Amino acid sequence: MSDHDFVSGSKPIGLERGEGVSLYTADGTDYLDAGASFACTPLGHSHPAVVDAVTEQVGNLTFVDSSFPVQSREDAYASLVAATPDGLDQAWFCNSGTESNEAALKFARSATGNSKIIAATRSFHGRTMGSLAATWKDKYKEPFEPLAGDVEFVPYGDSEELAAAVDDETAAVILEPIQGEGGINVPPQGYLETAREVTDEADAALIFDEVQTGMGRTGSMWACENVGVTPDILTTAKGLGNGLPVGAVAVADWIADGAASHNATFSGGPVVAAAVHATISTLVEEEWPTHAAEMGDYLTSELEDALGDEVREIRGEGLLIGLELKRGANRVARDLAINHQILALPAGRTVLRLLPPLVIDESEADQIVAALTEIIAPDAAEAES
Ligand SMILES: *Cc1c(COP(=O)(O)O)cnc(C)c1O
Repeated sequence: MSDHDFVSGSKPIGLERGEGVSLYTADGTDYLDAGASFACTPLGHSHPAVVDAVTEQVGNLTFVDSSFPVQSREDAYASLVAATPDGLDQAWFCNSGTESNEAALKFARSATGNSKIIAATRSFHGRTMGSLAATWKDKYKEPFEPLAGDVEFVPYGDSEELAAAVDDETAAVILEPIQGEGGINVPPQGYLETAREVTDEADAALIFDEVQTGMGRTGSMWACENVGVTPDILTTAKGLGNGLPVGAVAVADWIADGAASHNATFSGGPVVAAAVHATISTLVEEEWPTHAAEMGDYLTSELEDALGDEVREIRGEGLLIGLELKRGANRVARDLAINHQILALPAGRTVLRLLPPLVIDESEADQIVAALTEIIAPDAAEAES
């Protein structure tokens, strides 16, 4: 962290190089990255396919605005739309997750002519004024009020409350198919289906925020595919450019046809577009979502065997894993980093979040399990050795 950065927290780990799931400091210490900086590098650090595509593009043509056809941008749109569920055939690129949700809310309002937004408790949709209004935590919101209005919160996972809240005045329901920042919360079976039914009945838009769950992390390209529910608007970002700053909104035709003017100068810039195309092509061609499903099952069952009753719950899908601890997650994450050179993330006070790059293998997963066993279940670790 720079001396001049008055916003970001600092970790005392100066990183210089990354490869696969490993990060290296200048003095050569290597860290196993089990957080991927919030799921931003699904293919692992500095993946050659992305590095090559970006390097070539930045040298050939770094930027022209989106009114000019550029091959890398055409390729990015084509690969994104091919990778999204059927029925989401139009897309728009932006620069981040919050901006993708900002756009989604605007598209939904203009396409429906309504303003009411239904969001869920413990949601996180970003920190610009519109997305922030649909985000749950007061701590993030209160200092900046008043925010955009007409947002109503319903308890995440409660189908009845959701059905009761949606009516003719509703522009959109916005949900994470699995909540990330809110603690890796998987909704009960039937919840996303209900969201689909009630928005259909009310002619409202269903927005799935897949900023964290997308790009293969949950074992399918998109978490909504695991339950077979297609939204009208799907937003994504984090892993989309394997670390380059890019977000996207994929929409159904009725949204595209009804959406009023919205754009951004850097939308689909040639360099980030090259990163998107390389990332999606590699994920799809090399079937990393399937690997994520297998490694997620492996890691989850190994953790369950090793930690058992020492944790309250292990939940998630694929390589989006949350451990509900019996103690503070921050201290466990710190212990993991300092004493085991493993980087993981807290999600709220008691949830430890594992979001490794999807390319993680069994021996790397074993390292995570062994380290967590030593920290959380030391008696079991002793018996093993
Ligand atoms: C991180 C995140 C966002 C915000 O993305 P930024 O790129 O930080 O603006 C929005 N929604 C979800 C689900 C996220 O995890």
